[in-house]
Amino acid sequence: MPALTPVNPERQRKKNRMKIGILGGGQLAQMIALSGIPLGLRFVCYDPVDDCCASTVAEHISADYDNRKKLAEFAGQVDIITYEFENVPASCVRYLNALMQEKGSAVFPGENALHATQDRLREKQLFEKLAIPTPAFMAVNHAEDLEQAVRLLGLPLVLKSRSGGYDGKGQSVIRNEHDLHEAKKAIKHDQLIAEAWVNFDREISIIAVRSRSGQTAFYDIAENTHQNGILSTSFNRPDDAMQKKAEMLAQRLLDELNYTGVIALELFQTGDQLFANEYAPRVHNTGHWTIEGAACSQFENHLRALLDWPVGSTRSIGYSGMINFIGELPPVSDYLSVNNAHYHDYGKEPRPGRKVGHATLVAASQDSVKKMTETLEAQNRGLARQ
Ligand code: AMP
Repeated sequence: MPALTPVNPERQRKKNRMKIGILGGGQLAQMIALSGIPLGLRFVCYDPVDDCCASTVAEHISADYDNRKKLAEFAGQVDIITYEFENVPASCVRYLNALMQEKGSAVFPGENALHATQDRLREKQLFEKLAIPTPAFMAVNHAEDLEQAVRLLGLPLVLKSRSGGYDGKGQSVIRNEHDLHEAKKAIKHDQLIAEAWVNFDREISIIAVRSRSGQTAFYDIAENTHQNGILSTSFNRPDDAMQKKAEMLAQRLLDELNYTGVIALELFQTGDQLFANEYAPRVHNTGHWTIEGAACSQFENHLRALLDWPVGSTRSIGYSGMINFIGELPPVSDYLSVNNAHYHDYGKEPRPGRKVGHATLVAASQDSVKKMTETLEAQNRGLARQ
């Protein structure tokens, strides 16, 4: 009779670890997994891209989002599912939710949060319903609607695709008659939204977290700059005059959606008014500073919220500045030679317009973090020109 293999308690323990499934295997999934591994969690990411970023720190199922067999395999392996991008097909999330519900679990944040954000028109209508101020808008279905949009909203206006756009993709600004004429010629499909132009003083975002049992916390707002529609820098703003107002607006979304997880609300500020641009039902680029700049990061708090563990402190540790590396990475030594600079390389191939990494600087004052960030950014730009 063959000898029985003795039970290896260590292996047994590993086997019983809770597994989190993440739809999408990009840098956000990578950072979620990196924050959860010390908590004893293990991760499976689902992404059609063979060598996706998160595959360095998570098991990886490489298949399309409509592959039911692979999706069922994925759901069978994990205890709970979340997603790192909002353009994940609704049918995929619905299918996974049904499978997870059979075993008393679910996909978080819920389908309702995705549904509204997958269509900019629905999203704006939700803002209106919740009395969250948002730029005036109008659905544009035909070239003729554009004339009316100009009459109603004035110029300039922003024309955006209702679904699928991100990082400023799928949008154009109409500033004058010439742009209007060109836009009318170019309209090919009927899924557009026109938005009034907001002459904002600054762009801010607020990141909130709500656990399954409703424990809620907010991070300090971040002040953000963009280049060509892509986030360039984020600075946390402790004690900002707009904090409470931003929290109140985000709270309305959390309540309406009976939300679980981390959510980001992007806002334009003009004077003391805030206008919601969009929300993301997930961890967000404007919250990367929380990894080193807050007591508990947005990534860890997202996991705590899903698992209904106590939400961690969102308190800022000093003043943080985050610089996105777009297109290519600067030399790591430029950053590591700076005190309290933290360098993140997502492991992606360089490509124009692609987010390939970021750095966060933490300092004792707003002035010093601003100066440090500006110096490093200028260095970056110099490199990009070489
Ligand atoms: P979005 O893809 O909607 O986040 O837009 C990308 C960037 O375009 C924003 O961060 C703003 O800098 C700019 N933008 C978008 N919508 C408007 C608007 N209605 N008025 C002014 N700027 C806008």
